Order: sequence, then structure tokens, then C-alpha cells
Amino acid sequence: MTEKDRKKQDGDERGASLRERLRLPGGEPVDLARHDAAATPGGPGGKAAGKAATARIGERLAGLQERLWAASTAGDRRRVLLVLQGMDTSGKGGTVKHVIGLLNPAGCRITAFGAPTAEERAHSFLWRVEKALPLPGELGIFDRSHYEDVLVARVRDLAPRAVIESRYERINRFERSLADDGVTLVKCFLHLSYDEQRRRLLRRLDKPEKRWKFAPSDIDDRALWPAYQDAYERALERCGTSYAPWYLVPADHKWYRNWAVSTLLLEHLRELDPRYPEPDFDVAECRKRLLRRS
Ligand code: AMP
Ligand code: MG
Repeated sequence: MTEKDRKKQDGDERGASLRERLRLPGGEPVDLARHDAAATPGGPGGKAAGKAATARIGERLAGLQERLWAASTAGDRRRVLLVLQGMDTSGKGGTVKHVIGLLNPAGCRITAFGAPTAEERAHSFLWRVEKALPLPGELGIFDRSHYEDVLVARVRDLAPRAVIESRYERINRFERSLADDGVTLVKCFLHLSYDEQRRRLLRRLDKPEKRWKFAPSDIDDRALWPAYQDAYERALERCGTSYAPWYLVPADHKWYRNWAVSTLLLEHLRELDPRYPEPDFDVAECRKRLLRRS
């Protein structure tokens, strides 16, 4: 395959970027039932091609990640925050392993958010999230996020309804302030089908080496599927903004999910176009000094 073919396959020369294809409009009602979780929009032709393309994208992501870090050493405050949300088994952890695993771990700040601790509950729901934000030059990855406080919190009535209602706007203000401070938010909803979730949960039970990922409460959550879909639809509608849009990533095919999230990251990092800083010392003079001291 020529370099040109490769670029084409990786999405460089595609008419519409993946961002445009997967982006939800925001502010408009979302009907998840109308989105096919097994679709592969814009993707490479199948599993083998998808894996190969993802590996190549990983190399380019790593190069851009290094430039983002290098730029931060000269005062560039920009950073990226990847937010992964989705039902159990939708592949949040798998995406971290397969996509973020291609990057330099030193530049990544990965946080998985579980049920809040007593200390976290004593603060505002954004408190633990603020502590986990990426520093300038870093790529932050959230496996679950502040959105749980309008998702599981809504479905399981963990806070009064009025409090939960007020959170959408708080989230928007919070994300606006992040964007103003140089954070590029890439919010991915990993859209899984009900049937595929059963297959994945069964696999977790059947394979001894996967059982650690299973919790009996996953079955209770699954029973609340319609309420979760409804809560997701609200969050995608009310917190889809121009400065922090949501991307709907069909997630029934793992190879597509990995390809799509890495492509979305690549498109955002390319747009940021971080540059290696100019040296603030005299390169020629330093060479001379080094050579003199051989
Ligand atoms: P897992 O991602 O499978 O490790 O599960 C994490 C669990 O923590 C899920 O059941 C989430 O619903 C739960 N969780 C995460 N954030 C919150 C939150 N803010 N409030 C209540 N439960 C949460
Ligand atoms: Mg789980």
C-alpha cells in the first residue's frame, strides 16, 4: 500500500471528517434507538483493516502528543480531555487499553470514576473531577466522569430531582471554563446495543479470567436499561455544546470503536497543531562548547 493509500484509509482525505459524522447536534432531542450501535460510519472495511489503521493512527497520535508536551514546556497551556461514557461493557476500559496504550504513558493522566467516596460526597460533584484534570501538555482520560451525576444519579434517584436538573447547566458552565482555559474536550458516548451487552456480560461470567470485571449489580443496571438510555439522551441533548460537543461512537464492534476514538483524537490534535518550541539558547554555541570539551 502506498503512503497515499494509507492516508486515505486513515481518514486524511475523507470528504467529511469523522468529527462531523459522529457529532451530535446538541440542543436537539436525541433518540438513541435510531442510532445503529453496530454501524461503522466512515470506518475502514473490517476488523483486520480497522486494527491496522488504528495502529498507524497510534503512531501519529504519539508524535502529536509529544509535540503537545514539548509546547507546554514553553508555556503553551493547551491540553486534551477525552471523556468516555457508556453502559457497562461498552468498552471504556478497552478503549483506554487499545487507544491510550499506543501513547506515552508519561503524558497521560487516566482516571476511572467509581461511586464517590464519603469525602467526595461531602464536596460538590465537580470537586473530584477538577482534581483529575490534565495539566498543560497532558492528555487526560476520564473513564466515566462528572456525567455519572446526571446518569446513575438520575436513574437511581441519588439526589433530589431539582438538584440533578441544575447540574446540566453547571456542567456546561464548567466545560465552558475548561475550554476557555485551553482544554479541548473530546466527549465520546460509546453506544452499545442491549443484545451486545448481554453477550459481553455472559462472556464475563463464562470466562474465569473475565469474571473480575463482573458485578451482580450489572444485572440490576441492565434491568434499568430504558431509564439509562433516557438519561443519556437528556445529557447528550442538554450538554452538547459548540465548545464541548458529544460524539456518538457506535460500539458493538470493538475494532470500530477503537478506530473511531483514535481518529477523533487525531483530528482534534491535528487541529491544535502543537509545535516544538524554539530553543531559548544558542544551538551553535552549545555545539561548539560540547565539541571543545571532548
Ligand atoms: P465500573 O466502571 O464498572 O468500575 O463501575 C463503576 C460504578 O461506579 C458504576 O456502577 C457507576 O455507575 C458508579 N458511579 C460512578 N460515578 C458515580 C457517581 N457519581 N455516583 C454514583 N455512582 C457512580
Ligand atoms: Mg462494571
